[in-house]
Amino acid sequence: MSACDYDWLIVGAGFAGSILAERLAAHGQRVMIIDKRPHIAGNAYDRVDEAGLLVHEYGPHIFHTNSTMVFDYLSRFTEWRFYEHRVQGRVDAKLVPIPINLDTVNTLYDLKLTSDELPGWLAERAEPVADIKTAEDVVVSQVGRDLYEKIFRCYSRKQWGLDPSELDASVTARIPVRLDNEDRYFTDRHQFMPLHGYTKMFERMLDHPNITICTGTSYEDVVAKVPGARLIWTGPVDEFFGFSEGKLPYRSLRFVHETRDVEFIQPVGTVNYPQDEDYTRITEYKHLTGQTHDRTSIMYEYPAAEGEPYYPVPQAESQATYKRYQKLADATQDVWFVGRLATYRYYNMDQIVAQALATFTRIEATLPVMPGM
Ligand code: FAD
Ligand code: UDP
Repeated sequence: MSACDYDWLIVGAGFAGSILAERLAAHGQRVMIIDKRPHIAGNAYDRVDEAGLLVHEYGPHIFHTNSTMVFDYLSRFTEWRFYEHRVQGRVDAKLVPIPINLDTVNTLYDLKLTSDELPGWLAERAEPVADIKTAEDVVVSQVGRDLYEKIFRCYSRKQWGLDPSELDASVTARIPVRLDNEDRYFTDRHQFMPLHGYTKMFERMLDHPNITICTGTSYEDVVAKVPGARLIWTGPVDEFFGFSEGKLPYRSLRFVHETRDVEFIQPVGTVNYPQDEDYTRITEYKHLTGQTHDRTSIMYEYPAAEGEPYYPVPQAESQATYKRYQKLADATQDVWFVGRLATYRYYNMDQIVAQALATFTRIEATLPVMPGM
């Protein structure tokens, strides 16, 4: 195909862009999908490292969803490995379950509370907040200030460069409080890892004669070469509009990968460090992938102000700026904004899959009807 032969240019080959490429190609549309990074799969990209271990390049990605529709859609492109993620926190030199559960409280305070006694114990410490607005309010109103200080305050300050009192309630509302021994990080109906990894799943999704993939390619490199193509944008929304409404804040991370000459270094997939360390968490990939190997690959996450935009920052000010971009986006004919960066939402993978499929339903209504469909 020559560069003029495309119906669609899709910017970004993560979940949002790749799902739309797959859906459009299946409906007879000719698609060029590009990514400025040298690979597909966006932030879910995984690869085999020098030691032969499957690692996630941009932080641990654990698939979990309550949506059978999302799960069934992805199941067309991968088989799965059952995996339930567990996280512990190193707090006061002890390893305790995160989210906070009965064992977390008993271990940290040297108690023998039962599930029936825990609500009363928490209620004595919880600080009533009439109108829950901030990430601090969410936690202190449930578990009180001491557990908030031990587990949430410093971790959040590291992760976001902001105090939880400056962050939207939705940030810490992601983490529940458990009154029993439940120690899984997620309780969704479907919790699995792609059996051969995310990148392989994306390869199958994009394997279609109507799809041309150009990695290591920026929007600016190709936009003039695909005249007439309709556009799907999954990059940062403020970048698309030349930052005309001001820069949106994004939080970045520096990932440090290491391989150790031991079989395992920690008891669970991720250990959080909510107190003194500069990093927030260490993930040991063999727990996630089930790979057997006599060495182990781990990854530290160091939060950073500068670098790739990984997280939209949930705050009233940034939402107000985003709303101005959203107005511009709504008024831009034939450009579809999809994904975590383009819609400035702190979304998990399954939410992006659902968003992309819903966007396709709206696009489909504008496509010519294919014979036999
Ligand atoms: P992305 O994957 O970011 O894809 C956008 C792509 O666009 C990028 O590859 C980028 O290079 C490309 N791009 C941007 N601008 C341009 C341009 N100008 N030209 C060309 N290409 C461009 N979700 C979960 O469900 N479970 C988890 O455990 C989980 N863990 C996470 C851990 C971390 C550290 C992070 C950062 C996220 C995590 N997520 C997790 C969220 C998950 O990564 C996202 O929901 C999902 O990857 C978003 O997909 P996307 O397509 O919107 O964005
Ligand atoms: N959080 C915390 N301590 C923890 C775990 C989470 O303070 O041990 C807070 C922190 O602000 C974090 C947010 O809860 O950014 C959401 O945590 P999650 O694990 O969902 O973050 P993600 O995996 O998206 O980075």
